[in-house]
Amino acid sequence: MIVFGTMTGRLKALLLLALSLFTTLLKRLVGRGRHGIEAFRENYDADGLPPVTPDERASMVGFQRCIACGLCDRGEAERIARSGGAYRGVMALMLSGARSMPDFRAAAYSFSFVPESVLEEKEKICPTRVQMVALSRFVRSKADAVGGALPLPRTVSSLPPRKLGSEA
Ligand code: SF4
Repeated sequence: MIVFGTMTGRLKALLLLALSLFTTLLKRLVGRGRHGIEAFRENYDADGLPPVTPDERASMVGFQRCIACGLCDRGEAERIARSGGAYRGVMALMLSGARSMPDFRAAAYSFSFVPESVLEEKEKICPTRVQMVALSRFVRSKADAVGGALPLPRTVSSLPPRKLGSEA
């Protein structure tokens, strides 16, 4: 009985795959299928994965130089406290902000607690010259492409995000 159930499940999966393949090929044949960036966005926007340009890809190398020295977290205690848990300091954003694109919407919300002018100043003291401002803009632009920053649930924080670029 179990074997029969498994067989039926496999058969259904195979039929589904065959139907999907047939539909895709048919759409291509009549020119109705989506291609390139359009198809990519249709498939991956919902997963928080917007496409990146060759220039952006090249810049991403400069985003990953953080050695976790902690220098850029100096003076961030007030902003961290004010964020209600959404912002854990500059270092956390520099370490993880550019590494997982599906998390960019949450990262963009965290970035909203630290003004760009502050990131500019912190770039000057960073021993590995992490491009903090560029990283922040990259994360926010990619998050915007798939729906914008995701605020924390109200149960975690009832504080509104700070306006980007505004002073502390
Ligand atoms: S100062 Fe630079 S290297 Fe140090 S934690 Fe911050 S981003 Fe990383």
